[in-house]
Amino acid sequence: MTESSLPERIEKHRTVAAWLEYQLGQERATIQRLEGEAVEQERRRKVAWKQSRFTVQEPPHEAAPYVIHRGGCTKNPNPLDYYEAPDLVMMMRGRNASPCPICNPMPGLRGTWIPTPDFGEDA
Ligand SMILES: [Zn+2]
Repeated sequence: MTESSLPERIEKHRTVAAWLEYQLGQERATIQRLEGEAVEQERRRKVAWKQSRFTVQEPPHEAAPYVIHRGGCTKNPNPLDYYEAPDLVMMMRGRNASPCPICNPMPGLRGTWIPTPDFGEDA
């Protein structure tokens, strides 16, 4: 086995170093892509969580009703809280409330909501 000359050995190590730099670039790109996917997955999870819940808009004055919205409704962009249907129904029991005409939360509350005469729902 003949020993490589010094210039040949240097060239081999440069080739290995270039390959390692290429691989490192590939790994960094993969990490960046996966981190982007993780952020998007978390964003979607939060949206789904909100959309599976309901919000309550405070009445503007005492005689006005509370307005019930779906969690993602743009008519109530900064709700105090997000409620699951049974909790919302417990909280709103006996209160003057009406469904938002834009997001129409009633289909999602059906089976949970007990209509009150002032709610305007066809029982
Ligand atoms: Zn709404």
